[in-house]
Amino acid sequence: MSNFRRRTFLPIFFLLALSARAAEPVVDWDKAKAETLLHYQSIVRMNTSSPPGNETSVVNYLKDVLDREGISFQVFALEPSRANLVARLKGNGLKKPILILGHTDTVAVQPERWPVDPFGAVRQGGYVWGRGTTDNKDCVAAGLMLMLQLKRLRVPLDRDVIFVAEASEESSPGPTNVGIDYLIREHWPDIEAEYALAEGGFVHSENGRVRFVEIAATEKVPRRAKLIATGTSGHGSRPRRDNAIVHLSTAVSKIANWEPPMRLNDVTRTFFERLSTISPPEEASRYNGLVDPQKTAAIQNYFADHDLGNYSVLRTSISPTILSAGFRQNVIPSQAEAMLDIRALPDEDMTRFYAEMDRVIGDPAVKIVPSAPGRPQAPPSRLDTEMFRALEAAQRRLYPNAITIPGMVTGATDLAQLRAKGVQAYGIGPRFDEVEFAEHGWHSDVERLSEDSLYGLVQFMWYAVLDSAASK
Ligand SMILES: [Zn+2]
Repeated sequence: MSNFRRRTFLPIFFLLALSARAAEPVVDWDKAKAETLLHYQSIVRMNTSSPPGNETSVVNYLKDVLDREGISFQVFALEPSRANLVARLKGNGLKKPILILGHTDTVAVQPERWPVDPFGAVRQGGYVWGRGTTDNKDCVAAGLMLMLQLKRLRVPLDRDVIFVAEASEESSPGPTNVGIDYLIREHWPDIEAEYALAEGGFVHSENGRVRFVEIAATEKVPRRAKLIATGTSGHGSRPRRDNAIVHLSTAVSKIANWEPPMRLNDVTRTFFERLSTISPPEEASRYNGLVDPQKTAAIQNYFADHDLGNYSVLRTSISPTILSAGFRQNVIPSQAEAMLDIRALPDEDMTRFYAEMDRVIGDPAVKIVPSAPGRPQAPPSRLDTEMFRALEAAQRRLYPNAITIPGMVTGATDLAQLRAKGVQAYGIGPRFDEVEFAEHGWHSDVERLSEDSLYGLVQFMWYAVLDSAASK
């Protein structure tokens, strides 16, 4: 910027063009970084591992900060210790609101496995260490900073900006959930929005260079089912053809070796197309060759061996995760069970899918018993919205040598429930080197986030929301 000012002659038309645009609010990023770090460390130091959660401690902290700044908020709690906070900055109502979510709970820790105090928010080597540093207190801090800057700079808004610090993302979704499901069920008018931003995306870097910004536009749908094999119990000395364990293991093996048909959607198709444009030739030919009937089998095989993420997004996938059978060495049990973790494509017809599984197993002694569904199915969020374009613009601004790629999360987030309500919802996230993320990312015993990545997330959120919400 300073180079700009030193130029003494700017063409007249350029000056005119500049003055015709509304002045963009300017954040003092140095000050903002120090303040971000303060809030971030403060909330990482609050132990909100779930259960029990105690997310209200973070809500109380946020309340104090928002009170000081005169930002209005509401607190909604189904359980007093597990409160959600909903803050809102009013716009002129020209457009529908945008919702920013960060979840305040974390998964539990095994403290003895940590090299530092998991709730110490220790700064070391350019990182902040601690449970929740990447999942998801980075988004909570970024959402808070967004509200503070919008308010302080008195940014005129065409739409309300709503910030939700939500509880209980890490526990099961459904009627007993005290976070997003409760908010949607009982306080929908307070959080209803056209767009939502939350966790799930990434800024991918390799050897310190940002390659692409992945925006999560859809996710797989967790569906669990049990295989239950039944037979006749008996003495281990007399082998039986109807041994439940034998029937179950044959069924598990058939299911694990079965590949349901590959099916790309708008998001995954665009993901592979765009990824190919920034990949070395050999990788690019894999991404492009996926839809080629001659090449697809070999490429899918390659993914299965070398790239589990890309392998998973191709189809509804099934992983056997728990086996239970038998209780004595010399007793043939009459029942054996296997738990299957099924991750469905967003448009999967599960009734048909279970029927197909049944056909693959082909054994009347084995029954498929689906668990109650958790997060709802919903179509992918669109890639032609004002919000998606604003995210792309934020990428061009912060990482001009990278590109934006929409992606499908193989795990699950609370954006699923919002998509099911018709909200166009996108997952964003901090910058991560792939190797760094594999070791130090979500749920890791050495969870940490680089301070630069945290500030990058704050800026990315700021520019994307400014672009889509500020009056022009
Ligand atoms: Zn999370």
